[in-house]
Amino acid sequence: MSLLPSNYEVRFGFAGNAYFHMIVFREAGAAVPTHQHAYAHVSRVLRGKVRYERGDGHVQEMEGSIEGPGLVEVPAGIAHTFIALSDDAVVECVHMLRDEDGEPLPFDCSNRDAMAATARL
Ligand SMILES: [Zn+2]
Repeated sequence: MSLLPSNYEVRFGFAGNAYFHMIVFREAGAAVPTHQHAYAHVSRVLRGKVRYERGDGHVQEMEGSIEGPGLVEVPAGIAHTFIALSDDAVVECVHMLRDEDGEPLPFDCSNRDAMAATARL
């Protein structure tokens, strides 16, 4: 399978201090760039099939396939990616609103800049 980077759209929102980051893949093979965070988060497959892969940033190790609805905990500091295996896949990542260092942000509805920093992946 050839990976199609950036072939997805992101929708996000928050309620209280909970941040919801939805990844809507356009087609099978679309992939989120491998990345990591300073904090753990939960990712769940809302629709379709997605492969969740983890590694050390250079060598990918396939963690397994998840057929929705499913849920995984993505540990802090572990590189990871999601790859769509079906055209209609949607993954949602949920965590607290955090700054770039991973520290929880106090809830501030007007703090759109902080939210945009959180919204990268
Ligand atoms: Zn992530």
